[in-house]
Amino acid sequence: MSQLGQVRQARRLRHLTISRRQFLAGSAGMAAVIVGALPARAKARPHTFTHGAFEITVLSDGHLEFPASIHGLGQPPEAVQALLQAAGLDRDLLKPAANPALIRAGSDLILVDTGSGDGFQPSAGRMLENLAAAGIEPGAITRVVFTHAHPDHIWGTTASDGTLLFPNAAYYVSAVERDFWMTPDLESTMPREMHPLVAGARANLEAVADRLTVVRPGDDIVSGISVVDTAGHTPGHISLALEGEDGLLIPADAITEPAIYFAHPEWLFAFDMDGGQAVASRKAILDRAATDRMKMLGFHWPYPGTGFAERHGSAYRFVPLG
Ligand SMILES: [Zn+2]
Repeated sequence: MSQLGQVRQARRLRHLTISRRQFLAGSAGMAAVIVGALPARAKARPHTFTHGAFEITVLSDGHLEFPASIHGLGQPPEAVQALLQAAGLDRDLLKPAANPALIRAGSDLILVDTGSGDGFQPSAGRMLENLAAAGIEPGAITRVVFTHAHPDHIWGTTASDGTLLFPNAAYYVSAVERDFWMTPDLESTMPREMHPLVAGARANLEAVADRLTVVRPGDDIVSGISVVDTAGHTPGHISLALEGEDGLLIPADAITEPAIYFAHPEWLFAFDMDGGQAVASRKAILDRAATDRMKMLGFHWPYPGTGFAERHGSAYRFVPLG
């Protein structure tokens, strides 16, 4: 095993106590159990496509593992399972992808979320390998946008010793999101299972504090890439809209499992911190994407995560793009 491999394995073992805990509670107070798995294989050639003036590379961070019961809270389990099976997925254990996007915009290289790093689930944290496979050094990233501060989107910002993995980047997060996770004594408002999430969000946000820009819906990251309000999954969750062609949306965790939430955007997801607000955001972004025929790039959708929202009755159908 290479030295890097040994370091990674040691870090995984050190984090096992967190990784195996119930870690997240949704608006209904539901918690999920982390499930161990063998590391995913790095993609040899990350999927790259052009969109308007941008070149986009989808960097697999591996995948996560969750019980299917995190979806459709309050719905009959058979109804949830039927949708999963119709999409060819396991009805009990889901392995959603994790797809950080890398956007080349002129002289900028913009990373949308940093992935899990080594401290979350062992099947995730593969992004640096895939960045290398794309021929890009971490030091070449000029900007990092956090859609929100959950582990699978922000824990890949720092190494275990706290050093920045993308040392030359400017960082962006929504003001609401930053303020929420930095609320003094936030842990006292949350169940114990959530405390590692608070600590992880804070550690990574604090590590970039001197190079962090807070943004609000409507702001541009760079010309042609704007911030869209999709609060609900977390208080300050944002999506990104890219100009060019009919537009491209990066909805992050406003729409997680496509097999479920295109057909039932009104169903509740266990990790949405405000279920009602998350449903409203999901409906709004699906309506916009379908109306404007925008391409979408979903963080947790099957790699490479690209597709369209097509109207289907009173809801939508996911039309994937290869
Ligand atoms: Zn996520």
